[in-house]
Amino acid sequence: MKFNTKTIHGGQKLDPAYGAVMTPIYQTTTYAQQAPGNHKGYAYSRSGNPTRHALENALASIENGQYGLAFASGLAAIDAVCKLLNPGDEVICTNNVYGGSYRLFTTTYKKFGITCHFVNMETPANITSYINSNTKLLWVETPTNPMMNIIDIEACAYLAEKHGLLLAVDNTFATPYLQQPLNLGAHIVMHSATKYLGGHSDVVLGALVVNNQDLANQLYHIQNASGAVCGPQDSFLVLRGLKTLHVRMQRHCENGKAIASFLKGHPNIENVYWPGFPSHPNHDIAKKQMSDFGGMISFTTKATNYQDTLKIIQRCKLFTLAESLGGVESLVGHPASMTHASVPKETREALGISDNLIRLSVGIEDVSDLIADLEHALLF
Ligand SMILES: *Cc1c(COP(=O)(O)O)cnc(C)c1O
Repeated sequence: MKFNTKTIHGGQKLDPAYGAVMTPIYQTTTYAQQAPGNHKGYAYSRSGNPTRHALENALASIENGQYGLAFASGLAAIDAVCKLLNPGDEVICTNNVYGGSYRLFTTTYKKFGITCHFVNMETPANITSYINSNTKLLWVETPTNPMMNIIDIEACAYLAEKHGLLLAVDNTFATPYLQQPLNLGAHIVMHSATKYLGGHSDVVLGALVVNNQDLANQLYHIQNASGAVCGPQDSFLVLRGLKTLHVRMQRHCENGKAIASFLKGHPNIENVYWPGFPSHPNHDIAKKQMSDFGGMISFTTKATNYQDTLKIIQRCKLFTLAESLGGVESLVGHPASMTHASVPKETREALGISDNLIRLSVGIEDVSDLIADLEHALLF
């Protein structure tokens, strides 16, 4: 089955009860049993729910994996991966990582004796110097948020293989439409389905997909034991979102390309960060591992301070000032004070997350309206 068919049919069965074409929302806690332990495959909805299960199968299918697990949020999915670790273990993580991932590693898991090294993985050789006998996990996010750096997943998989490490890839920005990390040698793919997979900014949900059965069993144990599962209604919403993932992504990419080019040619713009430009430092890797370049763009303007940057953002009308990304509607954000506020200022600036950096999640509206909105906002 091709990807554009899998988004609609992948891993799905017709409803066994009445043949409903769309997966019903099994809004139930529990399931009748003939005798203790004798049931139709489901006993209690934390351990398993048919709607969640349909979503988990769909997620596995589109990521080309064997096993999918859905969680209450993207961070709950990352948290489940962290729980594979033991005190004393070390993690090597992309330095320019999602702010919430940074916070989880540096607060919650630091307290449990897990050390996380944040490394510039644009040069995979940088990773090697941090590997020791305690290293267990490589956590890779590509494209990175918000600087849109690209990390070579195959090169990371080579290092993981050589040193016996788990390689997990946060595929939230790219989605499996653009990039399939399991095919490139990753062991775990993670998603904030809150973003492109759900696609309509109406649900918070997370996911993991793996190929190895033993790893799947360990993660299933954690999912059930810790209990951060998503509900049937939310599972349904993401399942519905997935069915249009490929058409939405195609438009996100087209609009993203047009807006990146518009910004690049604008006199009030300083830098545009978008991996589709041949001048992007990791463009060749992006071309190798992604099928297109997506609708996430960051840029700096010639307004150098926070106040002037805020004015530009506030002049946007179609681009709504909000956290999050990946919905049908266009959003604008200020990483330094929003998504990355939990990263210390010195670290932020070293990463390029300056006070005049603006991030766009380009939606699927008519691109001429989006460009007109930015044109107006950038008059200063
Ligand atoms: C939003 C996001 C997360 C966290 O997901 P939630 O669903 O908000 O918990 C993790 N990684 C990336 C790249 C994200 O954008």
